[in-house]
Amino acid sequence: MSTTVVKPDREFTKKISEASGVDVSACYQCMKCSAGCPVAEVSDSTPAHILRKVLLGMKDELMQGDFIWLCIGCETCKTRCPQDISTRAVVDALKHMAFEENAEPKEKNVALLYRTFLNIVKTRGRINEPLLMMHYKMGSKDYMGDMDLGMEMIKKGKMGINPLSGRIRGSRQVREIIGEK
Ligand code: SF4
Ligand code: SF4
Repeated sequence: MSTTVVKPDREFTKKISEASGVDVSACYQCMKCSAGCPVAEVSDSTPAHILRKVLLGMKDELMQGDFIWLCIGCETCKTRCPQDISTRAVVDALKHMAFEENAEPKEKNVALLYRTFLNIVKTRGRINEPLLMMHYKMGSKDYMGDMDLGMEMIKKGKMGINPLSGRIRGSRQVREIIGEK
């Protein structure tokens, strides 16, 4: 049986706790969050394990895993937690760090979708689905994947078809909220 020796990165734990506003040491690993998390069964981790890894300062493992890119922000974890801990907030802080440090994510296309989404919101003040799809397809080179789903969305009026539709009036303020002038 192999044993993994963890060298805690205290600075990392402190940074994530401050950025998320979550005291990860308050988690006592009851796993209620993980039992309700819709992503846990398709990911290589669970909300409870994410918190424990942050506490242990396992930065590389967290950055390279898929969980932070798959979390859908539903907050089920917080709702179920007897300690009122939001793993979503911790995941957001981890994702932000991954972006800032250009970490190479395991789920490359999810990260590409995030970046593309954010860039469009920054320039236009809102999302433009056809533009998002165009940029995403070019970046992922997966030109035909999910075509049937896209067509279905257009048919049901869930997706616009004009990639040139303009900016909203408050686009500068939206950019400022995101954190870029
Ligand atoms: S429900 Fe709360 S205390 Fe229990 S494992 Fe999840 S985060 Fe920790
Ligand atoms: S917010 Fe993320 S971590 Fe929390 S339950 Fe939803 S998918 Fe899981």
